[in-house]
Amino acid sequence: MVELLEGFVNRPMLETTAPLGGHKDWRSNLKSMPIPESVSSNSVLTEALESLIENGRINRKQALDVYQVADLNAIFSLANMVKQSRFDNQIFFNQNLHVNTTNICVLACRFCAFRKGPRHSDAYELSVEEYLHRIEPYSDKIDEVHSVGGLHPTWTIDHYQKLYSSAKKKFPHIHIKSLTAVEIKHLAKRSNLSVHETLQKLHSSGLDSIPGGGAEILVDKIRDRICRGKETSSEYLEIHREAHKLGIPTNCTMLFGTIESIEDRITHLELLRELQDETNGFQCFVPYPFLPDYTRLPEAQLATSNEILRTIAISRLMLDNIPHIKAYRMNIGDYVAQMALVSGADDIDGTVGHEEIMHSAGSTTPLDSQVDDLVNLIEDTNQCSIRRNSIYSKFEMIRPQKHEINSLPLLN
Ligand code: SF4
Repeated sequence: MVELLEGFVNRPMLETTAPLGGHKDWRSNLKSMPIPESVSSNSVLTEALESLIENGRINRKQALDVYQVADLNAIFSLANMVKQSRFDNQIFFNQNLHVNTTNICVLACRFCAFRKGPRHSDAYELSVEEYLHRIEPYSDKIDEVHSVGGLHPTWTIDHYQKLYSSAKKKFPHIHIKSLTAVEIKHLAKRSNLSVHETLQKLHSSGLDSIPGGGAEILVDKIRDRICRGKETSSEYLEIHREAHKLGIPTNCTMLFGTIESIEDRITHLELLRELQDETNGFQCFVPYPFLPDYTRLPEAQLATSNEILRTIAISRLMLDNIPHIKAYRMNIGDYVAQMALVSGADDIDGTVGHEEIMHSAGSTTPLDSQVDDLVNLIEDTNQCSIRRNSIYSKFEMIRPQKHEINSLPLLN
């Protein structure tokens, strides 16, 4: 057991100006790595490996071919080689708290178990004071609050500006990661502002970064069936493009296992990769499967653990320009998340504290993890834990006595 990291958040982290993508020369690292037999004996995977070394990426056809490879272990090995070539045996996490602002939503996406109508007995909307009150007990243990919510029928930008400026005033050390693309679109419309103006105002009130939620699958014919009325694929990309132009970092996500095809998933990854080529503003990609409890999508195909891990591994092979791939344990559970950490993912949810969206749909992942729990979970995969800040510019290696401190790739 590691010692309980009392007052952990106040301990200094190393700051670096190095790129957040790990080793810059990851392709030459990849070239010099021993190739596991499961990879070398499979022509699809050796072709993908050669392409990664030569071009840094695989194309659409190669990704589709890898999806069809039966030997799961071989796909994991290749994805893990790429992860190791970039980050060695390091896994990143942060100390965060999820606080949802409201579950009242004017939309009713069929995959969503979280939203409520305004008159529902479980509907809630946090006042600014209640929001601060939720953060208060965690404030000396976290350095990020992650806040998303429904599309509230009456709130305008004034509410969120007050929320962020009050949170910044009271907890200046806490990074605010908040609002999905559709919330931003909704807020802009309700406030008679452009997306650009909305983001500018929110940013100057204290919004530091934007999570990736709401991407679902960036194929409009699928969106029309699972989340009609939500932003279109191009609107999702445009809102993130605007954020990147304003210097606001964002994450991106993919919800899979509803009614999409493998081709749709690859289209989704291609669109994210194209935008990243243009803006370089995505920090982390978070793929997660649909959870069905209390949703209205009986025709969903659902995703097995095999499918989840295969999708995470292929994301690592496709997204050469989005540095971090997250094992979203709130959705896939701690055990599958551990497998993901040896199948291409380099990042895992933080302490989280409280989570409603996935838990409303059936997640049973324990909440309120201590740093010790996370470190144990990571070290069980024979890798080392790196605490990071929200924008991957400061790091602390946990238990450096167990690991080579100079193996931090981001300090090279
Ligand atoms: S996914 Fe978001 S936008 Fe859709 S119903 Fe749920 S809360 Fe509303």
